[in-house]
Amino acid sequence: MEAVTGDGDHSRPRRCALASNWAVAMEIAEELSPNRQKKTLVRRTRADGSQRVRHAAQWLFVALNAWIGVQFYLWVRYYERGATGLYVSRPPGVDGWLPIAGLMNTRYLLTTGRVPVVHPAAMFLFLGFVLMSVLLKKAFCSWLCPVGTLSENLWKLGRRMFKRNFHIPAWLDVPLRVLKYLLLAFFAWFIGGMSAEALENFMGSPYGIVADVKMLNFFREMGLTAAIVIGLLAVLSIFVQNFWCRYLCPYGALLGIASLASPVKIRRDEEACIDCGKCAKACPANLKVDELVQIRSAECNACMECVAACPAQDALQLALPARKNAEREQRWFHRTLHPVAVAAVIAYIFLGVVLVARSTGHWQTNLPQSDYMSLVPYADELSHAAF
Ligand code: SF4
Ligand code: SF4
Repeated sequence: MEAVTGDGDHSRPRRCALASNWAVAMEIAEELSPNRQKKTLVRRTRADGSQRVRHAAQWLFVALNAWIGVQFYLWVRYYERGATGLYVSRPPGVDGWLPIAGLMNTRYLLTTGRVPVVHPAAMFLFLGFVLMSVLLKKAFCSWLCPVGTLSENLWKLGRRMFKRNFHIPAWLDVPLRVLKYLLLAFFAWFIGGMSAEALENFMGSPYGIVADVKMLNFFREMGLTAAIVIGLLAVLSIFVQNFWCRYLCPYGALLGIASLASPVKIRRDEEACIDCGKCAKACPANLKVDELVQIRSAECNACMECVAACPAQDALQLALPARKNAEREQRWFHRTLHPVAVAAVIAYIFLGVVLVARSTGHWQTNLPQSDYMSLVPYADELSHAAF
């Protein structure tokens, strides 16, 4: 593995103690090369606040999910206690944790033109997150997803503990990255092959109805194998940046494909850039930000770590294409997305989707309490093989 060093305030990372003398000598030789033109640094006039805004959005979403989780747990316990004790309504937001239901319901909508009745919120949230990706790259992953937030904090913990993270070498990195697309292809093939009737029967089956309860039970009654796998992923995430997201998450793979259509991208102004390479070193997706003029990659999650690390005025931005034939000062005028604007677009989409679903009566799964009473306490006994 290749070691990557860095620090929290994005000042030039200290050279890794393990870096070979040869690599250092090559770097110095390159810096001294007569062919390499030194550019004058025009320092930023305003500090970049992207990471503060993004972290606020991340923790707000973690808090929202924690609230949904507690409410859902209380709802499940009510039925497990035989409909006694404190009753709270089922929070439909829990459907956001059912991405496969979201995919199935979206396919059902596309096939029949009808909004599904079981876990409709899964579909609305899924479509909202896809729209977010089409407009703002994979912003969902780095601004909202609680798993992404956990993953990011694990690699930052690793960097604090060991003063470095590790990059898996390209010969292994590329085939590993393919894994998440293979998983996505499997789900797409499986769900794509289901008829509307089969989708309706599956989602309306006892198993489909309590898919959320089964998910909760998975964490409540976790077996040794599952605990070891999750523990292993957590440990790997300490050493390798965003291990789960980079290699295994099919949801991120799908959003990455959608993000290729995004008109907003990380864009580098070659004239303003001083070729310091800080952006590339800061990028958790290991993208060559310092060598490209725009980042098209499906791996870019719009985290803006690169923008935060850049010291030069107007050299790097999350932006629409620059104005053509404009002077340097005018080139990015009304083209750059301020982090607060990114957060606002994300909030508009998220709240807009919830509002549309609620106002059309398609947010809640509307089933009588008697159905839940007969299913929730027995969720563990239900298997999808039976349906
Ligand atoms: S290119 Fe910039 S925005 Fe994209 S993943 Fe890398 S650091 Fe984040
Ligand atoms: S765009 Fe990257 S290489 Fe260019 S000045 Fe900014 S941080 Fe340095």
